[in-house]
Amino acid sequence: MRKPIIAGNWKMHKTMEEAVDFTEKVKGLVPSNAQVDTVICAPFLFLDRLVKEVNGYNVKIGAQTMHYEEKGAFTGEVSPAALKGIGVSHVILGHSERRELYNETDDSVNKKVLSAFRYGMIPIVCVGESLEQWENGETNEHVGNQVKRALQGLTEEQVKCLVIAYEPIWAIGTGKSSTAEGADEVCGHIRQVIENNFSKEAADAVRIQYGGSVKPENIRDFISCPNIDGALVGGASLDPDSFLALLEAS
Ligand code: 13P
Repeated sequence: MRKPIIAGNWKMHKTMEEAVDFTEKVKGLVPSNAQVDTVICAPFLFLDRLVKEVNGYNVKIGAQTMHYEEKGAFTGEVSPAALKGIGVSHVILGHSERRELYNETDDSVNKKVLSAFRYGMIPIVCVGESLEQWENGETNEHVGNQVKRALQGLTEEQVKCLVIAYEPIWAIGTGKSSTAEGADEVCGHIRQVIENNFSKEAADAVRIQYGGSVKPENIRDFISCPNIDGALVGGASLDPDSFLALLEAS
């Protein structure tokens, strides 16, 4: 049985005060570690403080991107060593907003995935198709290629530990979520790609989240599907009550 993993992706929301207020409200109410893995992926600036805030609770803190190099002349970037050093455990890599707006490529995502493992962090690797690709029936091919490229060079054991987030771009922040059946089919295809490129064991172990307009009212539809093991949630993860409702429903 794969344990569900619910991750909030705060994107560029909240101030430090609001971030701390949120964690103070939710940390004591998060379901036990046996039921669900809970991650908050916050802006860089808040990470150090939030890691300390959630110490001893069933909440992990993740970043939303990182550089793949340990250090160097990369103005404005944050290294995996720096994240690991303050206790960050997860990192979202290859989010479609990074791919679209900040030139993230399959190659840079792959370098970052390898680097996250070098520093002992769990990557949440995002994949997903555009509306046009979806309408043209190219979803499986596109998403399958993204998965293959992102995971190139990983060991089977690493694949078993990572998290993949399937997020159709047309469903992000639009209020238009995929149908649960549609999302499950794509997640099943991702599992097949992993089986073909690694092993059946890796395909059975890897956790795949759905993301895109997930809310407390629809999360059960998704996570009750056989191939979906949790959710990566943007908008509905920002409010403490809504975030707790997502966890409760998982
Ligand atoms: P929404 O939940 O706001 O649609 O965002 C999804 C997302 O991009 C999570 O990474």
